[in-house]
Amino acid sequence: MCFNKSDMKKLFLLLALFILACSNNNSEQIVNMYSQRHYDVDQLQYDNFEKKTGIKVNVIKANADELIQRMKNEGENSPADLFITVDVGKLWQASDMDLLQKYNDDSLTEGITESLIDPNGFWVPVTYRSRILVYSNERVKESDLSTYEDLANQKWKGRLLVRSSSNSYNQALMSSLVANLGEEATQNWTNAVVSNFARDPKGNDRDQVKAIAAGQGDVAIVNSYYIGLLLSSENEEEVNAGKSISVFFPNQADGERGSHINVSGVALAKNAPNKSNAVKLIEYLTSDEAQDIYVNNTYEYSVKPNIEPNDIVKEWGTFKKDPLDLNMLGIRRNDAIRIFDAGGWK
Ligand code: FE
Repeated sequence: MCFNKSDMKKLFLLLALFILACSNNNSEQIVNMYSQRHYDVDQLQYDNFEKKTGIKVNVIKANADELIQRMKNEGENSPADLFITVDVGKLWQASDMDLLQKYNDDSLTEGITESLIDPNGFWVPVTYRSRILVYSNERVKESDLSTYEDLANQKWKGRLLVRSSSNSYNQALMSSLVANLGEEATQNWTNAVVSNFARDPKGNDRDQVKAIAAGQGDVAIVNSYYIGLLLSSENEEEVNAGKSISVFFPNQADGERGSHINVSGVALAKNAPNKSNAVKLIEYLTSDEAQDIYVNNTYEYSVKPNIEPNDIVKEWGTFKKDPLDLNMLGIRRNDAIRIFDAGGWK
């Protein structure tokens, strides 16, 4: 078989049209991720996902309140496919504001620890972390510590370090206290804890650990993974700060409820325009491969029991988790904020 000149021209024209159609934006596979997460590992995960699937992840990063407001303003035309947060309370809030849709596919949570799964079916847990105590190796004995409640004890006067009450990690912890202890007991606790502060709240979790190293306080409330990040830092000051403290999981004794945990989770936006791509990204982020990348880069805990923590984290041992329904971290949020304000926690 052979072509004459005019056939060849037609063939080239068809080929050119075909290439044009393929490179058209409409056929580009994308997923739009609204993200409250703020860790270097996230881009690594999205690049890895794109390599595997050809689906490009567009990330819009901001704090959770800004992203919720944005989704609300955009309404039905929102380009958001996924909303990922570092605080399950914000996922509950988004679901409460009708900004999410249920994932309606139980295979998405297969292999995930039962107690971390949303009973309402809106969000899928991606990692979890505990808000723990760390203490000065020089000035505190492990046996001095026991529970969150004990931080109200006068023996801690002028010794406690913690960031501001506007931070969602603290708001989630306070929500868990309201849910577990009731409002009155939590208000009394807050008033006492504020009177034990070593200084007015400032800085992030890492700064509290550095303040212990600098002798400005003795005990700090921080998220567990920041200790892993400090110890593995390339900055000597951070490594030294990490080495100056030890990790303590509160409320572990028999009859105690366990340490407060929070979930970094992901949910489908109500009108997700690229829903099938979004589901694929959820599947990737909860895959064994991605879970392994998380634990070894951010020192968070995997939501799958078969994925072991990083060696640094493993050294702290296992701990009992507060079994509270994680949606309570959102449901009791307004009470938590009111208690912070009434207690003068800046
Ligand atoms: Fe964080």
